[in-house]
Amino acid sequence: MNSETTHNYEQRLLQRGIRPSPVRLLVMRTLCQATSPLSVLEIETELQTVDRSSVTRAIAVFQEAGITHAISDGSGSVKYELCPSHDQHTPSDEHVHFHCELCGRTICLTDTSIPEINLPDGFKAREANFVIVGTCDKCQKRLK
Ligand SMILES: [Zn+2]
Ligand SMILES: [Zn+2]
Repeated sequence: MNSETTHNYEQRLLQRGIRPSPVRLLVMRTLCQATSPLSVLEIETELQTVDRSSVTRAIAVFQEAGITHAISDGSGSVKYELCPSHDQHTPSDEHVHFHCELCGRTICLTDTSIPEINLPDGFKAREANFVIVGTCDKCQKRLK
């Protein structure tokens, strides 16, 4: 990783009061470079040199600080992605995810925003998880 990006990751962690340990920086880089949300297992596989419990701990810290979003896509493993906004986590960061049952990918549909849900009085949402399950465009093409 080049020093400029490392510096950016460090800044992003420090801004949230997180000590930028080597493992945290590696996990951060992996999530940053990923084109879709990743599970802990996928991060571990990608990094190889970092064991699963270290990845899990780094993710727990990120979740606590609101740097990442957790997505339950119905596949049984929670996937994580970096929060697109650099500032505090806002509901406008939320977007629809699509889980393809054929290839297993979970895709960010960043142009599809989550419809506004009107909650009953006295309820306050912290996070929304909007996942559509089906067949992705690539798999649809293959089926034809
Ligand atoms: Zn697919
Ligand atoms: Zn996403």
